[in-house]
Amino acid sequence: MTPEPLAFPTDPGAWRSFAQERPAERLARVRAIDERLRTDSALSVAERLDLWNDADVALLEAMNEAYVLSEAHPDAEVRAIAESQVQAVETMSSTRLLDRELWQAFADAATDGLDADQERLLTHIRRDFRRGGVELPDAERERVRQLAERDTELSLTFSRNIREGRREVRVPAAGLAGLPQDFVDAHPADEDGLVTLSTDYPDLMPVREYATDRATRIALVTAYNEMAWPENDAVLAELLAVRAERARLLGYADWADYETETRMIGSGAAIVEFLARLDEASAEAAATQYPMLLERLRRDVPGAEAVTIADLWHLLGALKRERYDVDAQLVRSYFPFERVVDGILSVTGRLLDIEYVPVDAPAWHADVRSFDVVRDGDRLGRIHLDLRPREGKFSHAACFPLAPGVTGRVLPEAVLLCNFSRGLLEHDEVVTFFHEFGHLVHDILGGRQRFARFSGFATEWDFVEAPSQLLEEWAWDADVLAGFAVDAAGEPIPADLVARMRVADAFGRALEVRRQLGHASVSYHLHVDRPADLQAETERLYADTSPVQPLAGAHPYAGFGHLTEYGACYYTYQWSHVIARDLLTGFADGLMDAAAARRYRVEVLERGGSRDAKDLVEAFLGRETSFDAYRDWLAGA
Ligand SMILES: [Zn+2]
Repeated sequence: MTPEPLAFPTDPGAWRSFAQERPAERLARVRAIDERLRTDSALSVAERLDLWNDADVALLEAMNEAYVLSEAHPDAEVRAIAESQVQAVETMSSTRLLDRELWQAFADAATDGLDADQERLLTHIRRDFRRGGVELPDAERERVRQLAERDTELSLTFSRNIREGRREVRVPAAGLAGLPQDFVDAHPADEDGLVTLSTDYPDLMPVREYATDRATRIALVTAYNEMAWPENDAVLAELLAVRAERARLLGYADWADYETETRMIGSGAAIVEFLARLDEASAEAAATQYPMLLERLRRDVPGAEAVTIADLWHLLGALKRERYDVDAQLVRSYFPFERVVDGILSVTGRLLDIEYVPVDAPAWHADVRSFDVVRDGDRLGRIHLDLRPREGKFSHAACFPLAPGVTGRVLPEAVLLCNFSRGLLEHDEVVTFFHEFGHLVHDILGGRQRFARFSGFATEWDFVEAPSQLLEEWAWDADVLAGFAVDAAGEPIPADLVARMRVADAFGRALEVRRQLGHASVSYHLHVDRPADLQAETERLYADTSPVQPLAGAHPYAGFGHLTEYGACYYTYQWSHVIARDLLTGFADGLMDAAAARRYRVEVLERGGSRDAKDLVEAFLGRETSFDAYRDWLAGA
């Protein structure tokens, strides 16, 4: 039996009750399941696992739908209802893991007669209970419950402040020098002769890259660094305190040790080692590249003391144009938005042997395009693309799971929330689009699992970026791009331009890795050291890690949205990147090689979280993973 996709309200007035009632109905279902698990001692272990899975399905459905609506629905009232439902689901999830009677249903369940999937689920359930705090004395259990609830509250507030923290600056019209003409036309001067720029990506990214006026770049990047400040200062300080106390009560040295227990990296200390390894691998190249940036900056700004984060993209762009003959404005002429959407669907469709069939069904906003993912007439899942910015919407780019795929029972569905430019896309945006699409297809193709616990991209969290980072490579391949990147005259992007783009991309790579290293050390050290002065310590960490300097006195941590979900583990991006570079070696016969693509789909994507990530990677590569491909990439390969 093929499960049916989710049905959204057709009547716009029905969204508020949808947001309220669907999660409430699912939570009621979980309460009934839990009552049965507590009281029915005749249940076999296999039956208990099935009931637990039923509850997982209900909780994930409630959580995912509420989360997407809280980030994307155009009606602020619906977002507020959805946010309170996210809180309700989180509270129930953490409270269940403190319930001793429920724990008894699994604590000493015998494993005889269970198959490998059931044993894996039982092991994970027991681990979840232990990490939830079920074994603690009563007073401490109650404290852990309060702390978990407070973590959710603070995380939601932190994200909301960023989502609603959009800022604007006004600069003289002459400050738009260097920006593309379509950008200038879309930003007319007001009666005071000033132009308004916002911190939304479609303004921020072109300004960072093209504005030759340093004051304009600094004004907008400063505004971006001040998003959600000062509101998020106190929120973050309390969040870090709550996490530290919860980790300690649960028997861990700090929050990093707590989080990494369930990840590939295994411990907080291993994060420090991994960051040191990245530091060592990127130091020399970064030290060679930085003086070139500073010298280039001084040509525009004589006497400039240091390259700042407001200069980095502009200088890289200038050097790429001057040294490697890569003109970003020429490059973007090959990426009209609609062609890129079609191109990504066609490339990933061929690669993964799937078709996308447009669906005419209501969603939360008219911008949303929905597609069924189909193979041989069989519907595998459904995707929803919500790609343009609008007020009150999630302001970055990310993939959100919507329905947890369970074989024969729940059709997997997932959502992209992005904020792309109208008109022409920057190549960076094309890369981001491929990246997010990598998450999307992982979630859908991994969405045929027996247990919801292992569905889609529910893998170790530091593996989750590997499939998305791998797919970025397709946005750098001349043959792949020639299939859809076509300019207004109908000419596909020339292969020699793509070749120069690749060479130019290698320049500045080590500086980018050091910038990522800065984010990773902020995420780790704020959680582990919990400095009294967040501003001073963050600035010091960024300044020490990367030669490209932060803006003095800025508060970028207040808008660092990853701190809620990634916690101390922003290292995840580089950890996954090491794996992604290694996975790429499996495509030695070309990115569209059918045999490699099939093996990758079957051995990695379709497994979802049903095996440890290490085993998936080894099954695809036929060997243990290695750091070599990443090191070569860093050296410019
Ligand atoms: Zn990602």
